[in-house]
Amino acid sequence: PVEERIAKVIARAGVASRRDAEAMIAEGRVTLNGTVLESPAINVTASDRITVDGEPLPVKERTRLWLYHKPRGLVTTARDPEGRPTVFENLPEDLPRVVAVGRLDINTEGLLLLTNDGGLAKVIAHPDTGWLRRYKVRAHGDVTQADLDRLRDGVTVDEMEYGPVEARLDRVQGDNVWLTLGLREGKNREVKRILEHLGLQVNRLIRLSFGPFQLGDLESDLVEEVRTKVLKDQLG
Ligand code: URA
Repeated sequence: PVEERIAKVIARAGVASRRDAEAMIAEGRVTLNGTVLESPAINVTASDRITVDGEPLPVKERTRLWLYHKPRGLVTTARDPEGRPTVFENLPEDLPRVVAVGRLDINTEGLLLLTNDGGLAKVIAHPDTGWLRRYKVRAHGDVTQADLDRLRDGVTVDEMEYGPVEARLDRVQGDNVWLTLGLREGKNREVKRILEHLGLQVNRLIRLSFGPFQLGDLESDLVEEVRTKVLKDQLG
């Protein structure tokens, strides 16, 4: 069986940092198989029983993932300095503690992935993962398909470089256009900034998909758990 330093095991269980775990051991707060430890210089295996302040280490929950149809008006940060309502205050009570995968602006709607696995959230949102994000956009102004085609080579706006964007003009509605966009980065306010560069003001933004996950007909404000097996194929 794999042996590891006890402080590392405590840290991985999310109870304390490795350094703090070592301090707790020195303070006599940690037991191993019923005996109070005096020194952190000890290796353990999965079958060893560890307690901290009398409590067994929490068992790591299996990774779970949810689709959430975010309505407008909620921020995706855990706490908003301006006190605006957050996605997390709005979720069903029976959901475990979750984090959002990346962010959506307060007035953006549509697919937000939620997971109880912070590490997974980072991997998915990382630009290197390169998952396609598809958006439906309503924007004020005029644009031609030829203008949109130029986004395919990427675009630099205010010294920020954006990678290739697939953009399709779906229809004109009064003073607005409806577009479908596909991007693979996830930079701050990217859709709004890129379209502003073409003279368009985004006034409705809906995320339709993120990598293999689709908003589909999930209703606004509802949460639906999805199988994480698909992640093994997608992330290797
Ligand atoms: N691009 C934006 O401008 N806003 C979002 O919320 C997502 C993508």
